[in-house]
This record gives sequence, C-alpha cells and structure tokens, in this order.
Amino acid sequence: MSVTQVTQVAAYAAPAAKAPLERTTVPRRPVGEHDVLIEIKYAGICHSDIHQVRDGWGEGIYPMVPGHEIAGVVAEVGPGVTKFAVGDHVGVGCFVDSCRECDYCLRGQEQYCVKGMTGTYNALDKQGEPTYGGYSTHLVVDENYTVRIPDGLSLDVAAPLLCAGITLYSPLKHWQAGPGKKVAIVGLGGLGHMGVKIAAALGAEVTVLSQSLRKQEDGLRLGASHYYATSDEATFEKLAGSFDLVVSTVSAPLGLDAYLGLLKVDGALVNVGAPEEPVEVNLFSVIQGRKTLAGSMIGGIAETQEMLDFCAEHGLGSEIELIPASEINAAYDRVLASDVRYRFVIDASTI
Ligand code: NAP
Ligand code: ZN
Repeated sequence: MSVTQVTQVAAYAAPAAKAPLERTTVPRRPVGEHDVLIEIKYAGICHSDIHQVRDGWGEGIYPMVPGHEIAGVVAEVGPGVTKFAVGDHVGVGCFVDSCRECDYCLRGQEQYCVKGMTGTYNALDKQGEPTYGGYSTHLVVDENYTVRIPDGLSLDVAAPLLCAGITLYSPLKHWQAGPGKKVAIVGLGGLGHMGVKIAAALGAEVTVLSQSLRKQEDGLRLGASHYYATSDEATFEKLAGSFDLVVSTVSAPLGLDAYLGLLKVDGALVNVGAPEEPVEVNLFSVIQGRKTLAGSMIGGIAETQEMLDFCAEHGLGSEIELIPASEINAAYDRVLASDVRYRFVIDASTI
C-alpha cells in the first residue's frame, strides 16, 4: 500500500444501521509526519461494536467499520515518529485523537477530553472525515495514540486488552482493588472475564455474579474465589453488605438497587456497561451506607500502556475464539445471546 496518498484498504462494514456487515473498502490517509501505518493482525469484537452497528446509542455514521481492539505490526513510520519502528508490535484502542490541550488530555486522561476524544470509528476526525475502525487490514494512526504490545503477549490474545482490558483495569486501580479487598464482577463476558483476571492479579478476593452457574468452572479457573447466579434470589440475601467494590459490565439495563445492597458501608458500585436504555435507581440505596454509584470509561494512553505491561508481566491475555471475518455476523448473534468464551477475535488476514 502507498504511504504518500489516500489508499483504499479492505474492511468489513455495516452499510446502514442494523444491516449485516459485508466486505468493502475504505480510505486510509497518507502516512503523516507523526503517523504509523499498522498492518492489522487481529481485531476483537466488543459489545460496543454491536450497540453502534445497530445504532443503539444513536447518531451512528454509516458505512461503519467497527473495531477498537486492534493489534498489529508497524509497517511504515512517518519522518517525525520517535516512539515506534517498522516491525514493532502495537495496539490501538477506542480513540485515535483528542484536543491534546485540555486538563484531561494533559494529565493522560484523553478519554475524558473536554472537546471529545476522536473515536477509532463512528466519529469524525479533525478534518471532518469519518473514522473507520479495526475490522480492516491497515490503519494509519498518530504515534501518540498508539501503544506498544510487550513481547510477552501474543497479538491475538492482546487485542481485546485494548478495550476490555483497560476498561476494567482503570476502575480496579482507581478504586484500589488489591489485597484485603472484596471485589465482585457482574457479567462474565468480554469485559467481565478480564476484570476477573486483573482483579485477581492485583490481589483482591474476586466473586463472579453471573446470570447462571453455566460458566462457574471457567470463572474459578480465571481467578475468582466465588461464583454466584444472580437468577437465584438467595444470592442477594447471602451476599448483602459483602463487597468493597462491585463492577458491572452488563450490556443490558440492570436493576442497580439490588447490587448496591451488596456493598459494605463506603463501598462503590462502578458501572462500565453501556446499555441502550436508561435505568432507575432508588437513591435510598446509596444514602444508606454512604455508598458510591460511579461510572468509568476505558482509560488514557499512558494507563493503557501500563495495563499492557501489567498483563504481560502477569501472563494475562484474553480468552479468545478466533474467527474469520466471514463469521462476524454470526459472532454478533452469539455475543447478544451471552454465548461467548470470552472474546471473539477476527483474524485480519481473512478480511
Ligand atoms: P459481553 O461480552 O456481551 O458481556 C456482557 C455480559 O453481561 C454477558 O456475558 C452476560 O454475562 C451479562 N449480561 C448480558 N445481558 C444481561 C442481562 N440482560 N442481565 C444480566 N446480565 C446480562 O459484552 P462486553 O463486550 O463485555 O461489553 C459489556 C458492556 O460494556 C457493553 O454494554 C459495552 O458497550 C460496554 N462497554 C463499556 C466500556 C466503557 O468504557 N465503559 C468499554 C467497553 C464496553 P453472564 O452471562 O455472565 O450473565
Ligand atoms: Zn469496546
């Protein structure tokens, strides 16, 4: 592919809201002064891709090429690039730019940029051009929005860390999951299974709260000490007042009062799931026990690098099902049915 002019590259796109994804081509910009050209090797399928393809959050831009869990190899660098060289293993997560000037950008929390981060897809860049994500063969991205995938992690199991990994790592660190802390992870899907692995590696005592006991063996193998079914009313009675931190990764609207009841005094329920419908909360659930109801969105570039280094050090990759691109639509149906163990990853050589 040429690095001096706009180039069409192969990709899988949804041509319109709710339409199945199909093979197409999309433009990639020339490699600029501070850009790297990445040959994409793997792209994870995040539930956020499905929300957006189906326009569940509204204002979707079509055709849409999803994919914000991108792992690949640097194929070319711009003349001003200092952080990466051809052949390096790199990753790109949920955003590819931000204002670079606001307080949040300056303190490495680019995901909370006051002007809004530029999403890796389903967004407009500073030139007003739509961005196209990782279900593709190549990507051109600024080196400052690129992270290094350490040697200890293979690219296929590293890809999901770029969203699922950082989305759990950031709140687990912020709310100090660690030795002596009891942490519950709600939902054992793509995000949830990384939450179990990371919280356990941080030294916390981890409990999985899943809809059923179907995946209990896996949950315990991934690092949880306890596993309960939320379909069983007795779970909420038994665990009332038990946790320092509950992180919900559930993709559908969830009655939060029951989960707030699981917290100790001063405990925090952190929601990272992004359901398409609002949820109601009875505020007595937080008043009683001085509890915190909070949210958290992915993580900044520096923290994403820290997370990747942590995962490499502790041998934490994602549990994946590798699929060819032709199976993306079938994989979406399985994710919607909570039938994924635990992240679908697209082999980009099949695009
Ligand atoms: P996922 O793989 O589908 O996992 C979600 C899990 O939630 C399912 O495996 C299931 O776990 C549970 N669940 C699903 N429907 C449920 C229901 N009706 N009631 C109770 N539990 C239910 O999805 P994901 O990729 O991990 O993403 C999860 C959510 O986080 C999505 O909404 C996504 O958009 C959002 N997200 C947010 C951020 C952020 O920055 N905050 C980043 C990425 C993704 P069990 O089978 O174990 O019950
Ligand atoms: Zn995601």
